[in-house]
Amino acid sequence: MTEQGSHDEAAAAQEAEWAGRERRGTGGWDEVLATEQHLVSPGAEWRSGLYRVALEQFERAAGALGLDPDIRERLLEPRRSLVVNFPIRRDSGEVQEFTGYRVQHTLAMGPAKGGIRLAPGVSLGECAALALWMTFKCALLELPFGGAKGGVRCDPNRLSESEIERIIRRYAAEISPIIGPDRDIGAPDMATGEREMAWFMDTYSQQVGQAVPEIVTGKPPVLGGTEGRRAATGLGVVFAAEAALEHLGWEIRGKQVVVQGFGKVGSVIAEELQNRGASIVGVTDVAGGVANEEGLDLPALQAWVAEHDFIRGFPGGEKVGRLDVLEVPCDILIPAALEHQITDENAPRLDCKIVVEAANGPTTPEGDEILAQRGIPVVPDVLANGGGVTVSYYEWVQDVQREMWSGDEIATRLRKTMRAAMDRVLSAAESSGTDWRTAAQVLAIQRVAEASRLRSIYP
Ligand code: NAD
Repeated sequence: MTEQGSHDEAAAAQEAEWAGRERRGTGGWDEVLATEQHLVSPGAEWRSGLYRVALEQFERAAGALGLDPDIRERLLEPRRSLVVNFPIRRDSGEVQEFTGYRVQHTLAMGPAKGGIRLAPGVSLGECAALALWMTFKCALLELPFGGAKGGVRCDPNRLSESEIERIIRRYAAEISPIIGPDRDIGAPDMATGEREMAWFMDTYSQQVGQAVPEIVTGKPPVLGGTEGRRAATGLGVVFAAEAALEHLGWEIRGKQVVVQGFGKVGSVIAEELQNRGASIVGVTDVAGGVANEEGLDLPALQAWVAEHDFIRGFPGGEKVGRLDVLEVPCDILIPAALEHQITDENAPRLDCKIVVEAANGPTTPEGDEILAQRGIPVVPDVLANGGGVTVSYYEWVQDVQREMWSGDEIATRLRKTMRAAMDRVLSAAESSGTDWRTAAQVLAIQRVAEASRLRSIYP
């Protein structure tokens, strides 16, 4: 029998089976669909490795809080999602389809806010998890936003600048029905920065017929970007680390630090901590890293990376793998690269006194549990890397009010916001006897739940 023949026969048998069911009144399509669990089981759309981590954290915090089951249901899944497919003309003249997403987790707190990424792994499930975390982050920092996330699935390293511009502009146009400066505000994320935000802002502005700088944050300063945005996330991590160390009775001066990731966030953290007297003993990027227990010469390393793009080959220390760097002995370990780095596999071997999560989701729930058993405190991502969205909020406020604040004013406000959030988490953890991550999430969920309860259900 040919392959086509066997397909036809199978299809005919299936149709006969369904028709028989219809005739016998045993359910027909409904029954067939009900057996297709992957199609109809609640929440199946969002499932992804990252969403599993986000949900486990949410459930743990909801349990600790004794969250009302109705509100729990409302917060478990995103409020609004848009999937778009659009064609882009490649430089070669060929037309290629791309898929983009925008997920808004909650609209109870005000407009949604969140990054726009270009990466091969962008999916509905990934955006849903990151949008949920953004809700927590905004609520914990007491910013008037719900969480959102979006992006386009592509490999930006294989696209030219003009192809990326066409993708960003078309994506902005495609998601314009659900975004707006009072509805959903974008921001840079993986492989997007000031340049992409300028294209995004211009496309949206062309659609509405006037300049709307407040549609995205992280713009170039001349288009309404703010002072201090570039360093905001890294600086916020340092302010959070400072507050945590103070609480533990430690000083930053003299501490040994390892940073995984040497991009926009990791490089600022390394520099700011060294300026405060810490010694950077290990650092890595995607191509590998370097370790030196005497402390790395950071200006020399920065000059090396500026010239060679990667840390690989830097002569000022021993070569170390991008994952092995996490096991280099230190006081403060800062994952600042990507998710799922500290797991049940390597957590038993970490040789540090505290972990400060600059990346989003760098520790799996299993890794987290091992760190807790080992008595290693973790300053959670939702708090530690909240400096970026905090300064984004300052940018949005300045755009809406047509104001310009100085760099000093931004840094002073950021320090105050980060320390106040850290203090709230420390006292909540102390009074409830939970770890810092659970305390942070309980505080965040409490705030979102309160807003959802007060707004009630329409109609
Ligand atoms: P980036 O792209 O500028 O830098 C990422 C760095 O990590 C690069 O040095 C890269 O080489 C390195 N890296 C990538 N894969 C790696 C791997 N497998 N092992 C080791 N190193 C690896 O990104 P960024 O803006 O610095 O973001 C870093 C993390 O911080 C991400 O998790 C991001 O979601 C999070 N974050 C960033 C911001 C922000 O404002 N940029 C805000 C909040 C959270």
